[in-house]
Amino acid sequence: MTDKIYVTKSSLPPLDEFVSEIADVWETHWLTNMGVKHQLLQAKLQEFLGVRHVALFTNGHLALEMALQAMDLAGEVITTPFTFASTTHAIVRNGMTPVFCDVDPDTFTLDVCQLESLITEKTCAIVPVHVYGNICDVEAIDRIAKKHNLKVLYDAAHAFGVRYKGRGIGSFGDASMFSFHATKVFHTIEGGAVCYNDEGLDQVLYQLKNFGIRDEQNVDTVGANGKMSEIQAAMGLCNLRHLPDNIKRRKQVFDLYMHHLQGVSGLRLPALQENVEPNYAYFPIIVEEDCFGITRDALYELLKSNNIYARKYFYPLTSSYACYQGQFNPQETPVALALSQEVLTLPFYPDLSTSQIEYICRVIREK
Ligand SMILES: *Cc1c(COP(=O)(O)O)cnc(C)c1O
Repeated sequence: MTDKIYVTKSSLPPLDEFVSEIADVWETHWLTNMGVKHQLLQAKLQEFLGVRHVALFTNGHLALEMALQAMDLAGEVITTPFTFASTTHAIVRNGMTPVFCDVDPDTFTLDVCQLESLITEKTCAIVPVHVYGNICDVEAIDRIAKKHNLKVLYDAAHAFGVRYKGRGIGSFGDASMFSFHATKVFHTIEGGAVCYNDEGLDQVLYQLKNFGIRDEQNVDTVGANGKMSEIQAAMGLCNLRHLPDNIKRRKQVFDLYMHHLQGVSGLRLPALQENVEPNYAYFPIIVEEDCFGITRDALYELLKSNNIYARKYFYPLTSSYACYQGQFNPQETPVALALSQEVLTLPFYPDLSTSQIEYICRVIREK
């Protein structure tokens, strides 16, 4: 038995680095409202992510919700139920109706073969998710969206730093949301951003996250408060410096898992995608009971009894949440439904040690 191994462990910069990063905040007393740290992080992210515009937010969810609001749409939004609560809630909280498309069994992202058949005259947008850092078929989605004149807003919460054919993943579609939550590959404790191509969104997003205030005497939008603070931004500036090393270490953890779990029958391991520079965000396994011998839920419990805390992520589908009872039918997305019952994300973070990985894999193999 070992000490508890949790599914993730937030990365932190060295304490003295963070202290020196925030030292000037103690000089200026400028704590929030788009200060120096905020502006610097925004500029650095724009460059790092290879995107035209970046707007920072207090968290990823508000970034997504406000990006959708900024597009000023109404009607149906085609999306996936195999995601975190945030994606579906952002659509519903904007008064729009999610229409659930099934997912591809290998990438867990929107099944572009089904996508077009769900488009009606009410469809206004597509909100796909780059699940576990696997990217959607961005080219097919782009083609379909252009043909039907639909907006595309990616939930890229898992895909920070991912590149496709050398291009930053946040540059595809009309906009992308990244989450900088403490558990993500890059974080600002809580935080998030919208990356977008249309300069016209600058002012709208700025006002939405700052109470709709245009200037000192004019409030012309019913906005809310979504501002990222200086301390959050400072954490981001530190973490960004360590990101390349973190991703290198994530790759080592990924490779070790692959090495120790390769060939276990009934386990489907993550596959890297062609032309994609990955970020190694998660290590999801698919437990096929017939071959593996026990169910996903049984494996989850077995790991837990050995002090290993994996996560049923994503389970359940958002379309089966109690708050949406009677509105959607999870059976209409059978691939997503099956995946939600078979997927388990294993503990995965940069400083997961070799011996911890070996221990986890031994428990799985000897089930
Ligand atoms: C984390 C996450 C979000 C929400 O981001 P927060 O920064 O926690 O608000 C949205 N979608 C997905 C897929 C996520 O994993």
